[in-house]
Amino acid sequence: MSRAGKVFLVGAGPGDPKLITVKGMECLQKADVVVYDRLANPALLEYAPQTAERIYCGKLPDNHTLQQERINELLAEKALEGHVVVRLKGGDPCVFGRVGEEAEHLAERGIPFEIVPGVTAGIAAPAYAGIPVTHREHGSSYAVVTGHLREDKPELATEKWRALATGIDTVAFYMGVANLSMIREQLIRHGRDPLTPVAIISWGTLPQQVTLTGTLADIEERLAENRQVTNPAIILVGGVVQLRDKISWFESTLSPANTL
Ligand code: SAH
Repeated sequence: MSRAGKVFLVGAGPGDPKLITVKGMECLQKADVVVYDRLANPALLEYAPQTAERIYCGKLPDNHTLQQERINELLAEKALEGHVVVRLKGGDPCVFGRVGEEAEHLAERGIPFEIVPGVTAGIAAPAYAGIPVTHREHGSSYAVVTGHLREDKPELATEKWRALATGIDTVAFYMGVANLSMIREQLIRHGRDPLTPVAIISWGTLPQQVTLTGTLADIEERLAENRQVTNPAIILVGGVVQLRDKISWFESTLSPANTL
């Protein structure tokens, strides 16, 4: 094959398939190979030509690092064969999406690539729950934090917790549900008001979206009582959560059971 291949690292958006960008959709339409993740809505694969090869590389019960190396190699290999490769990732590829590692691998081999941003869950899931992540009165700063802390760093440094607790109005924790107890405790210990509102939005932007609200003081208990709140979920902490009472819109199109 004489044509030079290229890799497009594309954000699929948070769940609702219509939240992919026009550019992302155009990449899919010209793909020879689509390498997609667990959190990229599979409905998007319909935009790829029927002949395109579809490779699923969601969470396999496998060594994570090894798996990432294999994905890096796969992207490079397919591009070197001359293919247009779309690496389709949930949300935005640059937000906890390991796009850096994939792009580095491609850059080192001189393989052309583009990054196509996407709508990230930490903004979109709150928006669909009626919570704008900033607001002139309730939140002028916003932070995106992983709640899935690396084994070699069991806890964020104290200064980071202090900053999140007292310096940032709205905090979105990705991958945080399993660590909710630690997150709420650290925020309170470092100075956040225990009555700060919290929302946990699971399966945001999809028909199965469920939102649980509470405060830092009681959210853990509330979660224990509401087992339908599962991963993937965003934990959103901050005064903006209260806006939901007025401007929740999407869940009113769903059943009352989606609002906890
Ligand atoms: N790149 C993605 C994030 C990948 S990390 C993005 O920009 O959205 C995976 C985490 O994202 C999940 O554990 C969860 O915290 C969050 N997430 C992804 N999709 C979600 C959804 N539809 N609703 C709520 N949280 C979601």
